[in-house]
Amino acid sequence: MVARAYSCLRCGACCVGDGSAFLYPDDLRTLAGHLGLSLQTMVDRHTDYLILELPDGPNGWVYLPYLILRKDSKERCVFLKEGLCSVHAAKPAQCRETPFVDEFFSDDEWNAAVRKSCPALRDVDPATLPKSAAPAAADRERRYLELLRENSYSLEKILGVTLPAPRILTRAELS
Ligand code: SF4
Ligand code: SF4
Repeated sequence: MVARAYSCLRCGACCVGDGSAFLYPDDLRTLAGHLGLSLQTMVDRHTDYLILELPDGPNGWVYLPYLILRKDSKERCVFLKEGLCSVHAAKPAQCRETPFVDEFFSDDEWNAAVRKSCPALRDVDPATLPKSAAPAAADRERRYLELLRENSYSLEKILGVTLPAPRILTRAELS
């Protein structure tokens, strides 16, 4: 079989399942504008609020707030309609970069699972694949962490919205 160049087949498989689409403030504003919603309504209707417990240096922990796109009872993103992304023009940065997010390059288990589920990665010429995540992804996360530090780790303050009680994901649940 002749290896082909990578090209997303728009099958929607990466919009269903365990993974979550993490949202940065710009993602939320873009989606809210696209849908004609206030930021508060966007957050209330389409997101879930998480706090991740992550290591911070050798002995400490940091608790980072994130909003993620909500999923339905079958683990499908709320914006997946008839197998396609209904907010394609305004989809979050992480969705635009999928499947080549950081974990694809840094986490063997993740890489194997994505290669199994994404049809565009089958029989593909490895030379056509990126060798690392987009530099913009690391920049985005760095800017987000700076913003959190500047705002006492309060997403409510950053976004000017009211959030429900978060679901806290401990390090043990994350690994
Ligand atoms: S926003 Fe679109 S691309 Fe992103 S997970 Fe939802 S349906 Fe998929
Ligand atoms: S699973 Fe692969 S082919 Fe399907 S939409 Fe996601 S990136 Fe594209």
